[in-house]
Amino acid sequence: MVVQETHCAHCGDPLTGRQRRTCSPRCRKAVQRSAPALRTCKLCRQPFQPSGPGRQSICPYDDADDFCQGLQDDQEDAEAARLAAREEAVCEGPECSSPLPYAGRGRPPRFCSSSCRTRAYRREARS
Ligand SMILES: [Zn+2]
Ligand SMILES: [Zn+2]
Ligand SMILES: [Zn+2]
Repeated sequence: MVVQETHCAHCGDPLTGRQRRTCSPRCRKAVQRSAPALRTCKLCRQPFQPSGPGRQSICPYDDADDFCQGLQDDQEDAEAARLAAREEAVCEGPECSSPLPYAGRGRPPRFCSSSCRTRAYRREARS
């Protein structure tokens, strides 16, 4: 069933003929100004109300439901892991360039093993 609006969303005048939602272009503009258009969150695919002008493409975290907050957390973790993996790709130990696996949580490791860490710190202490 299609719900037909019968009164102007701004001034409340009855709508006539082909009018939709508002009775005049002026009322239509007033409605658009007062309520920014809903956008679709690119993570949870739910419509949300942007909190202001700008390029917001996901629900504001505070307004998001648990599902979307979870997705936003995941995205942040993935982003952090991606940056860390790019920056800290190999062991910093002397004469060692072993790749460092990074679990994606917490501080990324600097050395592939404790012996590399010990050698690196000894070398730093001497110089
Ligand atoms: Zn009106
Ligand atoms: Zn969302
Ligand atoms: Zn190493």
